[in-house]
Amino acid sequence: MNSHEKAVYLTFDDGPLPETTPFILDTLREFGVRATFFMVGENVLRHHDLYNRIVEEGHQVGNHTFNHLGSFKHMSITYALNVIKANELIHAHLFRPPHGWMRPTVYWWVNRKYRIIMWDVVTRDYSKWITAEDVLNNVKRYTRNGSIITFHDSLKSIDKLHYALPEALRWLKEQGYEFRVFK
Ligand SMILES: [Zn+2]
Repeated sequence: MNSHEKAVYLTFDDGPLPETTPFILDTLREFGVRATFFMVGENVLRHHDLYNRIVEEGHQVGNHTFNHLGSFKHMSITYALNVIKANELIHAHLFRPPHGWMRPTVYWWVNRKYRIIMWDVVTRDYSKWITAEDVLNNVKRYTRNGSIITFHDSLKSIDKLHYALPEALRWLKEQGYEFRVFK
């Protein structure tokens, strides 16, 4: 985003889930920070109470398909219908493609209807090969003005986030970053 502003954009992909989302929301509230949740439609269907809490607490919502589809494996029409199905639940104007990739035809279609949000800082919080300290260090090492930082609202990442998320928020605040959501 804007490299002249001391601001970052926190994003959480793949939720909402009862094992993970409440901790993330509690932590964001403790630090008074807003974030954007790129949600999977089937999770919203199962845990609509968590979707409601995300919206009520002032966070931004984004569409991340209904079944976390990879564009590579599916026809464009299948993918588009999956995005539409997700948005009947999510009601977002933002979209992030699972795995960060879309076919050109899908991109053309999605880009007419949504603002597509990628990222520049991957915390790798989902990786079983790295520690919570590594996740924190990825934030510290790669964040710069206007960064879009990606965490995961998922079972793979939550053990690391228990430590890394509050520490990352504390560090980002100490560095003077503001927290923004997308227009
Ligand atoms: Zn994802």
